Amino acid sequence: MEVDASFFDSFPFSEISKAEGMVNVVLDKLGNGLDCHVNFQGLCQLPCDRCLSDLELPLTFQERLIVQLGGQTDLENDIWTLGPELHELNLAQPVFEWIHLCLPFRRVHPDLEACDPTMVDHLAQSSRKDEKGTDDGNDAIDPRWNALKDLK
Ligand SMILES: [Zn+2]
Repeated sequence: MEVDASFFDSFPFSEISKAEGMVNVVLDKLGNGLDCHVNFQGLCQLPCDRCLSDLELPLTFQERLIVQLGGQTDLENDIWTLGPELHELNLAQPVFEWIHLCLPFRRVHPDLEACDPTMVDHLAQSSRKDEKGTDDGNDAIDPRWNALKDLK
């Protein structure tokens, strides 16, 4: 199975804008079910937490899913049960979830240089402005407020 842009199109609520990779599934027979070993190796693209431009992250994971055949379909538990009406195993949903589970907590470009320079400049300026505002007190008041004061 291949993961690409069209894979994420089927999940419109993902923060991941793009991912590429290969999902390798090895199936072992296990009693009356299947033991699925899923390997993923690829890249995903997310907005950087610092500069909001695209950040590419390598992503790999190994997961396991046990699927058994049964009377009633149940895809919510750790062990899936496939009812008689299901003849196909669709791993898109679990693969999607696994990709999100292995995302790092902090998603920023590894060094500031890699960040979008215009955005970093912009952020640095606005934080400087904030500091100035608290130091200067009255001087920083928007002139429109002064005009309102005069109305009193
Ligand atoms: Zn960045």
